[in-house]
Amino acid sequence: MADKSFNAFAMAQQQFDRVAGMLDLDEGARDLLRNPDREFHFNISVRMDDGSMKIFRGFRVQHNDARGPCKGGIRFHPQETVDTVRALATWMTWKCAVVDIPLGGGKGGVICDPHHLSMREQEAICRGWVRQVASNVGPVQDVPAPDVMTNGQHMLWMMDEYEQIHRGHFPGMITGKPLGMGGSEGRTEATGYGAIYTLREALNRKGIDVKQTTASFQGFGNVAQFAIELYHKLGGKTVCVSSWDQADQTSYSFVRESGIDLDELRSFADRFGGIDKDKAKAAGYEVLDGGAWIEQDVDILLPCALENQVNAETAKMISDRVSFLCEGANGPTTPEADEILAEKGIYVVPDFLCNAGGVTCSYFEQVQCNMNYFWPKDEVLERLDTIMTKAFHAVADLAESQDVHMRDAAYMIAIQRVAEACRLRGRV
Ligand code: NAD
Repeated sequence: MADKSFNAFAMAQQQFDRVAGMLDLDEGARDLLRNPDREFHFNISVRMDDGSMKIFRGFRVQHNDARGPCKGGIRFHPQETVDTVRALATWMTWKCAVVDIPLGGGKGGVICDPHHLSMREQEAICRGWVRQVASNVGPVQDVPAPDVMTNGQHMLWMMDEYEQIHRGHFPGMITGKPLGMGGSEGRTEATGYGAIYTLREALNRKGIDVKQTTASFQGFGNVAQFAIELYHKLGGKTVCVSSWDQADQTSYSFVRESGIDLDELRSFADRFGGIDKDKAKAAGYEVLDGGAWIEQDVDILLPCALENQVNAETAKMISDRVSFLCEGANGPTTPEADEILAEKGIYVVPDFLCNAGGVTCSYFEQVQCNMNYFWPKDEVLERLDTIMTKAFHAVADLAESQDVHMRDAAYMIAIQRVAEACRLRGRV
């Protein structure tokens, strides 16, 4: 989000147009699917702790609900833009479709920086956000979830506000809730683990033993930490992670050739996934600039932070040894970079397939809330593995049989499913 010239929504539309052309999608379906169904833009007034009033801009974008209620997170970020939210809502539609769960795509955001907000101020933003869209979200319309810099506590405040407005219990109105309060076991792990389930299958297809591989991650937040956890359980070695340093307002990469110690780095990280560089240095990590994660001589790169990180400039810095790029983040790779990756022969597990574990587990959370019966963690993760593995092979099979890139194959499956739902409903 830092690069102001980058427009994530233009990129999402470019990716869609490319595949719509390959599928020969009719004009009506193209017109419908390249734009969101509806958008809400609003102000949220908050009385700050110092007594002043501050206005925060909030958004909710509902891209498409032909296959089920919209689903997607709410991000708190100082550089949030409505175009980023539009792109993310669009990708949610494709994400739910590619893993074949009965949900559509939505996304929300608030321009704010939780680093500089007290818990009370954050609660006021959450409740204000819900009051603005209380008639337009809910279990059968649009179901929010946590995303960058939002968590289970934010979701509970939102659910409480919604329930006070609508007078009842509606645990299915939001997901990512804490355990015991309608949350699902496994949700914290789901996105990171899901990414590694797809990586495991990609390595299997290529006959590569995960134990012989090394990886470099961008980011050290929810997605990256749990992806590293499972990757290490399978026997892989992480040699680099990067994170944002709030105090220095820049990012750093942390390298250890013998392999990072996940628990140790976790103990150096704040709740936003920022690693304390002094502690890391003292523990023997080499501290490099934030861009160094992509230049590492490893087998696998996993961008798990922000969009637009693998672009025409940075893709050229990727080592010849890299053979897999697994996109834990949303939109980390630009279309120009995709061409460079293809020339380099790098196998890409595209974002909306790779990181679909989170929304899949959110769907499980809704199902469990509806039953008022909750599964143990093993069962949740087993069901997640089944869905991710099936979706991955469907995409990989299509990519092979049609001789197209993985991203195009994932789009082909998702767009066809959504277009068919729109057609059957008579919307196109
Ligand atoms: P998070 O807020 O928990 O962590 C983000 C991490 O990125 C932090 O470690 C932060 O320090 C780091 N970071 C920020 N700017 C950076 C920079 N310039 N260079 C290096 N590191 C930087 O967020 P998350 O939940 O882990 O989400 C990460 C990405 O994955 C986002 O693109 C998000 O949209 C996507 N995603 C998340 C989920 C989920 O369930 N959490 C699901 C699907 C997709």
